Amino acid sequence: MIIGGGVSKYLLLAAVALTAYVWRDTFDAESVRGARVLVTGASTGIGEQVAYHYARMGAQIVITARREQSLQMVADKCMQLGAQKALYVTGDMSVPSDPERVLHDAVNLLGGLDFLVLNHIGNTPFSLWDGDSNHVRTVMQVNFVSYVSMAAAALPVLEQSSGCLVVVSSLLGKMATPFMAPYSATKFALNGFFGTLQHELAMQRSNASLTISILGLIDTDSAMEKVRGHTNMTAYPASDAALHLIKAGATRQTESYYPAYTYLACMTRDWFPYFRDLVIQNSYTY
Ligand code: NAP
Repeated sequence: MIIGGGVSKYLLLAAVALTAYVWRDTFDAESVRGARVLVTGASTGIGEQVAYHYARMGAQIVITARREQSLQMVADKCMQLGAQKALYVTGDMSVPSDPERVLHDAVNLLGGLDFLVLNHIGNTPFSLWDGDSNHVRTVMQVNFVSYVSMAAAALPVLEQSSGCLVVVSSLLGKMATPFMAPYSATKFALNGFFGTLQHELAMQRSNASLTISILGLIDTDSAMEKVRGHTNMTAYPASDAALHLIKAGATRQTESYYPAYTYLACMTRDWFPYFRDLVIQNSYTY
């Protein structure tokens, strides 16, 4: 019994030490200075914060979204924060030809590409599914198909620069929860598609790296507006989430998790499905 207890204590310590080693911060902000970066969905929220962090690190940045005035303001602030270059290209990811056009415009403006952060999402109501399959189609185009189109156009360029593609996903792409069916479907699609692509890039010994980042609830205006009154879950700061994405891409992690509870949730999600579903359903008011 005592021996068993001692062994488990050492196993636990070894597991903690291994986790700390694997998760240690090896990021060097200097590695991003002068890098050519395209961030999508950067007129607000996490994407805007990603642009500001890259700017502080002295990157050359192109941002994209639909609202020109907001993009102009974000680009101006990027220059004030220290970006070597900060430009924008407007585009609507629900238009099938826009993702490729935006990508090519950005590559032309930057003279290449080192980091592509795919982050934009279309608006989805936080409510019971109302049976609107047209909305599912639209949001699939914006949140998933446009990511595939941009990745297809970007990968040959990233291959040349040994660059990084960062795909922003969600815990809702790993675990189903109520009220976000179309959004959740797009995030599951991203994890499946880009997870497969990761294998194929590794098998082809590609120079390009691909990071899938799993985020939990983040305190952006759009997310807070949706969940207010429906859940008391803690929302984590958008600026920290943004820095996490940059570090995960620059250190070429395959999967990254922010905040840490998302990793635990993914690891344990299938252990006790009945209790998992009870916890999930009791985390929301209906
Ligand atoms: P957000 O604040 O709603 O920002 C969405 C961005 O996408 C905006 O810049 C918006 O700009 C752009 N966008 C919307 N529709 C577009 C379209 N049709 N074409 C082009 N751009 C479009 O989102 P967020 O909360 O920062 O989330 C950013 C990423 O983190 C998303 O991938 C999301 O799934 C992920 N995430 C967020 C949370 C969270 O709690 N916030 C949790 C998990 C994962 P315009 O309106 O100007 O086009």
